Amino acid sequence: AEEVDDTATRPAVELDGVTKRYGEATAVDDVSLRVREGEFFTLVGPSGCGKTTTLRLIAGFEEPSSGTVRFAGESVAGVPPEDRDVGVVFQNYALFPHMTVGENVGYGLNFADPPEGVTRDERVDELLELVDLPGAADRDPESLSGGQQQRVAMARALAPGPDLLLLDEPMSALDAQLRERLRVQVRQIQSELGITTVYVTHDQEEALAISDRVAVMRDGRPEQVAPPRTVYREPSSRFVAEFVGDNNVFAGRVTDLAPAERDDAPRVAGVDVGGETLRVAVGGEGGDGIAPGDRLTFSVRPEYLRIDEGESRVRAAVASAEFLGETTRVTLGWGGRDLLVRTRDPLSGEVVVGFDPEDAHVIGVDRS
Ligand code: ATP
Repeated sequence: AEEVDDTATRPAVELDGVTKRYGEATAVDDVSLRVREGEFFTLVGPSGCGKTTTLRLIAGFEEPSSGTVRFAGESVAGVPPEDRDVGVVFQNYALFPHMTVGENVGYGLNFADPPEGVTRDERVDELLELVDLPGAADRDPESLSGGQQQRVAMARALAPGPDLLLLDEPMSALDAQLRERLRVQVRQIQSELGITTVYVTHDQEEALAISDRVAVMRDGRPEQVAPPRTVYREPSSRFVAEFVGDNNVFAGRVTDLAPAERDDAPRVAGVDVGGETLRVAVGGEGGDGIAPGDRLTFSVRPEYLRIDEGESRVRAAVASAEFLGETTRVTLGWGGRDLLVRTRDPLSGEVVVGFDPEDAHVIGVDRS
């Protein structure tokens, strides 16, 4: 819904039908993507889905088996990484241990002159300031925490003033608390510079928190490309619905369709799920042609399943509960299915949970 027509502005990075094969294996499968100028764009997906390979193709560490990578409209085929004006940060920050922090950052300047009227040392100080490590130039990298080292690695990557920043799981070696703090800092640095950034992570929560748009990848292809809110609220497939956050996915036949109560209200379908009729709003895209007999797949986020409330209600039994602090994530068993709910109060035994039609999101319709 929030997809903007991006033909108007030339994308900073464009992949056009890009495939990368390693022998029999296809790591990246006919991918077409556009990253906008100044955008924080994230590739997220499970292990082996092709995130790192996609990033390496953009960096120039790999060449596509077929298809074209373009920067600002120009093909970069055959252009080596050092001539692509990209800054790259990997998971294992790999600072040079025999150099000071300042020398590490200065190393990034080796192949580029500092801006006019600025000395090398001033530029290094400026970069350390940017990553919130002022005055750290003389320190030994090993005296820094993992998060601080990773920020130095970012300063080093940013030193030559690249057009594009590529980050491959830069936080995965850090503990959870540090990761959350560092992601806020990374986003601040990116916004401050307005630098186009492509970020790789397998952590969907991190992807939602940090990005302007995310591409959820599966088997070498992006399955959905959209802003975090859209991916979360309107997943385009069962895979996305289940990969991004907790979710409850249901499937069943449409038994009846109630006309809309108002012109701007969606119609509501009755869907037979395991003998129970659940009521689902079927407005918008794909909802128009729905007819009784169609098979509908839909999802309801745990926060929309409520105890003793909602138009569609089912009786379910508490199977397990995890205390998360603010809420408890409870798994309920319902007719051989698991239902996830989030509650503030502890639950036990049998409960009635329900949801309203407009809190269900239609993922797919099968008319066969
Ligand atoms: P992870 O999160 O585990 O790093 P990923 O999503 O980054 O995974 P890639 O590293 O891009 O995935 O790998 C995609 C697929 O391509 C995998 O099946 C991988 O085994 C394969 N692959 C990647 N690089 C090579 C290579 N150099 N030679 C052979 N196969 C490769």
